[in-house]
Amino acid sequence: MSLLPAAGAVVLTSPPLSRRNRDTMPPLPPPPPPPLLSALPPRVLPGLGSISRRTFTSAAAAAAAAHSTSLAVCHGGRPLRYAVLGAGFAGLSVAWHLLKHSSKDSRVCVDIYDENGIGGGASGVSGGLLHPFSPKVKLLWRGAEFWKECMDLLRSAEQANGATGQDETLIWRRGIIRPPTNEKVADILLENAQSCLQSCSLEVLDSDAAQYLVPGLRVPLNFAVYMPLALNINPKKYLQALFSACQNMSGEASASQSPSGKKECKLHKEHINDLQQLAGDYDAVIICLGAKVSSLPELTNKLPLRTCRGVIAEFQLPSDAVPTYGSHSPSILSDAWLAFQGPRTVSIGSTWQWKSENYSSAVSDDEALTAMEELLPKACAVYPGIINWIFVQARAGIRAMPPLTANGSLPLLGRLDNVVGERSKCSFWLVGGLGARGLLFHGLAGKLTAKAVISCDESIIPSEFTCWKVR
Ligand SMILES: Cc1cc2nc3c(=O)[nH]c(=O)nc-3n(C[C@H](O)[C@H](O)[C@H](O)COP(=O)(O)OP(=O)(O)OC[C@H]3O[C@@H](n4cnc5c(N)ncnc54)[C@H](O)[C@@H]3O)c2cc1C
Repeated sequence: MSLLPAAGAVVLTSPPLSRRNRDTMPPLPPPPPPPLLSALPPRVLPGLGSISRRTFTSAAAAAAAAHSTSLAVCHGGRPLRYAVLGAGFAGLSVAWHLLKHSSKDSRVCVDIYDENGIGGGASGVSGGLLHPFSPKVKLLWRGAEFWKECMDLLRSAEQANGATGQDETLIWRRGIIRPPTNEKVADILLENAQSCLQSCSLEVLDSDAAQYLVPGLRVPLNFAVYMPLALNINPKKYLQALFSACQNMSGEASASQSPSGKKECKLHKEHINDLQQLAGDYDAVIICLGAKVSSLPELTNKLPLRTCRGVIAEFQLPSDAVPTYGSHSPSILSDAWLAFQGPRTVSIGSTWQWKSENYSSAVSDDEALTAMEELLPKACAVYPGIINWIFVQARAGIRAMPPLTANGSLPLLGRLDNVVGERSKCSFWLVGGLGARGLLFHGLAGKLTAKAVISCDESIIPSEFTCWKVR
């Protein structure tokens, strides 16, 4: 599928939005400007204004760079060896940032281990919905930064995907629309929609405008919140492309630099039994094993994570039915989400089965039926036309859910040596608990961790992500 134009362009051509309820509705925002695609290479994402808050001060960044150079020197020409456990969103983001941010003078080997290969865990089955807001469109804590880092990775993956001559785009669809289904949620949505994030804006649309975007959409409260720049990505394809980006980066670094600056990135399709087996070989091991992290004996019962299994049901429009879901129409977010991947395929998600120990991505007939009984009424409430679609298959994954904090459910980051115990000179790090928003979190979580690993300085990671260790 070719790269879709930004959904905002559709609004420009819509009929006048005259019948708005001015008593209950805030003014309709002006139509978005046409996307600035002409200035960009065709496969690159549109520009996304710069963020206001910076994670690192320039002094901290300079100190980290100096530290990493000194580490390279004290390794006396021996490559710095990093093991990244897990090739999901977390692991590949860490690998990419390790290659990106390590000193250009140091030889660096990044070995990625995953028993199932790239995207073999929750990341590969996820819905691929990406935006920096809560389900009730409240901007998440550090939402702008999470979004910005994610867009940087996506841009890199897009470039790598283009370079490998892949026809299929990483982005299934642009834009997400959120119609409320009851008065209480409607009030919260309207209040939250006031928040302003330039790089991923929100628009309040009346029924006409919403139904123009999605013919057949049910808009019971007469408005919907629209996120024109939100995305639905193809998670497996994205992860493959991100791995290609890692390999390209090591190739480019090796070609342009002296042997001392050589970079390598390899994938090993292997099961990791315990951390002991890696300690002697690596300078640092970064653990990104998703919900299975607690199966490592060194970490069993030591992390504040709960598992939550989710099932996604895939439907297709029968071949004799006329497609009614336009290729420019956004995905729908409500009590369930509907991610349309083409005119005839939609994924509907997701269920929440807490404390599940079923790690299989396969779904039994019974489990699929139970999931459909839960998901279909929720989908019908916003898109009744779904009854004409036919169930094809279901897939499942397990989320690693972190504790809820004052800043929301945040990933668990930080150095683990005190949890794992001293193992030679190897340091151990965690990128875990990405919960239900791993796609949004993985860019910043991977960047912070890689910078902390390279400089051997955990204080680079904001305390909100490491305070779980104190608790
Ligand atoms: C049904 C569902 C829908 C979702 N939809 C979305 C969405 O739309 N948007 C969003 O942002 N998030 C979504 N999420 C959440 C998101 O998928 C997760 O937050 C994210 O995938 C976690 O990434 P991870 O890299 O930490 O873990 P994983 O993707 O699970 O990666 C861990 C990897 O480690 C490997 N592994 C595990 N143990 C071992 C071992 N001992 N040895 C070797 N390899 C091992 C696994 O094979 C796996 O590939 C969804 C989750 C589910 C379950």
